[in-house]
This record gives sequence, C-alpha cells and structure tokens, in this order.
Amino acid sequence: MMNSQPALPQSPTSYGHYIDGTFSSTGTDPIERRSPAHSVPVSLYARGTEQDAEKAVMSARTSFDQGDWAYTSGAERQAVLQKTADLIREQAAELGRIECLESGKPFRQALEEMEWAAGIWEYAAALCRHLHGGTTNTLGRDLFGMTLKEPIGVCALITPWNFPLLIISQKLPFALAAGCSCVVKPSEFTSGTTLRLAELLSQAGLPPGVCNVVTGLGNPVGSTLSSHPGVDMVSFTGSTTVGNSIMAAAAPTLKKVALELGGKNPQLIFDDADLDYAAEAVCLGAWFNMGECCNSGSRILVQEGVADELVQKVVEKSRAVKTGDPFDEVSVGAIINGQQFEKIRDFVERGKEAGAELILDGTQVEQGQGRFIAPTIFDHVPADADIASEEIFGPVLSIIRFSDQAEAIRIANRTRYGLSASVWTANTDRALYCTRNLQAGTVWVNTFLAGSPELPFGGYKQSGLGRELGPEAVLEFTETKTVVIKMEQTDG
Ligand code: NAD
Repeated sequence: MMNSQPALPQSPTSYGHYIDGTFSSTGTDPIERRSPAHSVPVSLYARGTEQDAEKAVMSARTSFDQGDWAYTSGAERQAVLQKTADLIREQAAELGRIECLESGKPFRQALEEMEWAAGIWEYAAALCRHLHGGTTNTLGRDLFGMTLKEPIGVCALITPWNFPLLIISQKLPFALAAGCSCVVKPSEFTSGTTLRLAELLSQAGLPPGVCNVVTGLGNPVGSTLSSHPGVDMVSFTGSTTVGNSIMAAAAPTLKKVALELGGKNPQLIFDDADLDYAAEAVCLGAWFNMGECCNSGSRILVQEGVADELVQKVVEKSRAVKTGDPFDEVSVGAIINGQQFEKIRDFVERGKEAGAELILDGTQVEQGQGRFIAPTIFDHVPADADIASEEIFGPVLSIIRFSDQAEAIRIANRTRYGLSASVWTANTDRALYCTRNLQAGTVWVNTFLAGSPELPFGGYKQSGLGRELGPEAVLEFTETKTVVIKMEQTDG
C-alpha cells in the first residue's frame, strides 16, 4: 500500500512562464492549484496576460525566422528528442507525483503515462530522419518537379488537464521534429509537468526560444495565441466548445487549425462476444482516469440476449474498483475541480429524470477534503437521453440495449461525436461490417484503448480535425512547397 501523506508538499511549488529560455517569476497574482484529493495548495502558476502571450510569440517567431532550429539536420533534432525521452524516464517519479497532486489521477497510472509519453518522444525522434518530399519526372522533356516539406512556422499548442504531459507529447515532439518553434499553453489546472518539460528540453539541448510556455487562463492567453498574426498554426486538445471558438479566432488570419475534441464512445457488445473480456474492457474504458478521458467508453450498447449477464459482470467488477486517495492503491482518484464535480452529479440527476435505471450509485463517497465519485452505472438508458449522447467526463456509464446489428450501428452513430468505438464479437464479417460503418477515428475489435505511437489518433464529426501520432504526425506541422525546374535543351 502506498502512503499518501509523505508526498503532500509543505508549501506549493511556484512556476513562472518559460520564454526565450528563461523562467520568469510567478508574479504577484498567481493561480493557486490545490490537490483535488486533499485540497492542499500544491502549485502556483504565473497568471499570463495578453502581453505575456505576445512576448512568447515574438520569442518563437524570432527563433523560427532566424532558423535556429528549422535548419538543423534531422540527426541533430533526433538527438534532442531522444535525450528528452531519456530525461522523462529519469524524472518519471517526480513528474508522476506532480500530475497526481495537480490532477487527482492515481499515482500508479501517472507513472505509466510518463512511460507512454517517453515512448512518443522516442518515436518522434525516429521520424526526424524520415522527413522528405517527392520528385515528379512526368512533366515533359524540359520540366522537373519536386516537393519540399518545410516547417509550418510558429505553432501554438493548447492543452487540457486530463493527461497533461501525455497530450503535450502528442503535439510538441512532432512540431519540433518538423522544425517548428512553439508556444505552449497548458491547462490552468495542471501546468506543472509542461513547465518541467521545458526544463528538460533545455537540458537536452533545444535552443532558447524554440519552445516557450505561457501559463494562465484560456482567455486571455489561449485566445491571444489563437488570433495572433505571428502564429501559423494552432493545435488544440480540449472541449468542442472551446475548439469552436479557436477555429473562429483563427479564421481572420487563416492559420491552420488542428483539433482533438470530445467523444461519446460506444462499445458494441454482440451476443457471441466473450463477455468476461468485454466486461473487463467496459470497466477499463469507463473508470480509467475517473472517466475524464476523451476516449472514455462511456456508452455500452449490448445485445438483448446477453445484456443481463454482461450487466451483472460489469457491476460486480465495478463494485471491486477502489476509489480514493490517488497515492493509495486505487483505480479511481479525485475529480479535477468543483465545476466538473457538480457537472457529473448533475448528469446523474438528469439520467434519473430521463427514466434510466441507476444500478450503481457512486456519488456518495466521503473522503476527507477530496472530491470523489466512484463508478456509477445506469442501465436501460433511453437512446435519446442526455447521458446517452453528451460527454460527461466522469465515471458514469450508460448501458443501452439493442436487438440487432442495424440498430446498434444506428444508436452508435447517433451523436455529434466520432472519436472512437469498439466492437465485441466472434464473427469476423460482423466485426468488419461494423468497423466500416461506425463513424469514429479509431475502431477497436475485441479490445479497447490499445494503442501505440505508430497509430494515428483523431476524430470524425465534432470530435476534431486532423490526426496526431502515426508516421504522418510530423507532416501535420509542415507546409508543402512545390518546386518546378526548367531544364536547358541539351539534346541539340
Ligand atoms: P477546455 O476546452 O476547457 O480547455 C482546454 C484548454 O483550452 C485549456 O488550456 C484552456 O485554458 C484553454 N482555453 C479555454 N478557453 C480558451 C479560449 N477561448 N481560447 C483558447 N484557449 C482556451 O477543456 P478541458 O476542460 O481542459 O478538458 C476537457 C475536454 O478536453 C473534454 O471535452 C475532452 O473530451 C477534451 N479532450 C479531448 C482529447 C482528444 O484527444 N480528443 C483529449 C483530452 C481531452
């Protein structure tokens, strides 16, 4: 059993912005972050202003325009990214501790996330030496064509609170691999590990100004970055609502926008599925990171003939899931903030009002000063209830029953989201049919949440625009330049 008390800090850690290779002071009006599980102050972040964002953009702009990083060789970039991966591994315990304190996620899980993050930096490091365009030799006797992949320029990377280091690791190493300079704006709830990452990058040899970090609220910091004429691209992960406003803010300067947004991801469980594996995956999908996960498998669509048996297995396993102090051996930690806590509880009330059957109620957990919600399950959820179509971002599972494949696909696609889905069946034809017909950026078959940096990630419909990870992740941060060369006639 891990002990919670020694890890709690006596006083909060103070962090300033990181601009042009230098940390500023925290300032006179910092943002205080309290641990969601213990309610003690753990971090103080500088409250960024429009001017701070402006300064960071200028730093990134200057570094990019001077070519400090953009003209380094792939081998040099690879070395810096690989060294960063090594440093993340070396610092995993400290980084995991910061995330546990700031976000409320289980410490054990935070440690795993540090390893995943290091793996992504390593993968991006390898891609540094594979960035190339193409040639075209079919333009006639005297024309020769080629394409160059050039870094898009200055990128603003805006991230949420649920997987702080992991999500910035899905953006920053690929932007750096392409040769871009960046301004990072982490969530105002969980900025600590992003600022630590800036330190590690400097230690790994990244020149000053190539990666800047400005902390603070979405408005003014994120909004300034999204509309700034000195920014060429915004890569955002967060809510669909803020994604909409970022696209609008970016429109006047026509900057490129990449968006990773919300999800309401269905798991379709057919009557020939292995119910034990499926029940295990349902619990992982629903309770992982307290359900505060864009990929949360928060909608279970189960075929009527096996529904009772599956529900019984899921409830049994869920009762055994431990909720509490994230430094203890728990699977479900604390909820990020008061607003989210109330939002989740409100959804539970709306579920009851919609006529869904609350078969496991986790809203009554008492744990000292912390905000906790244990696994909560609704059965017989009407397909048009809010809890069946809206992202709750908490440990609340909705179970919907269906009669046949056509109905399952219809219900599955009946949301504005399209991030991920999974299909549980022993029938290969059915698995393939569903895979083709589900509107989702990722479809798993007889598994859930399995992944690797080699695989692209992103959403259909209002779950986003563009893809992260995978071999093409670096290309997202490039422009293509077409070069046409006229040759002298040499055959005369
Ligand atoms: P959020 O949209 O409230 O905030 C995300 C970031 O945007 C924060 O840094 C915030 O300060 C900033 N921001 C807020 N207003 C802004 C504005 N007007 N302009 C620019 N930036 C602004 O999201 P959150 O509450 O931090 O995270 C939860 C959401 O993130 C959920 O909807 C979840 O689905 C989504 N999410 C998606 C993915 C994915 O990859 N698809 C991954 C994780 C989280």
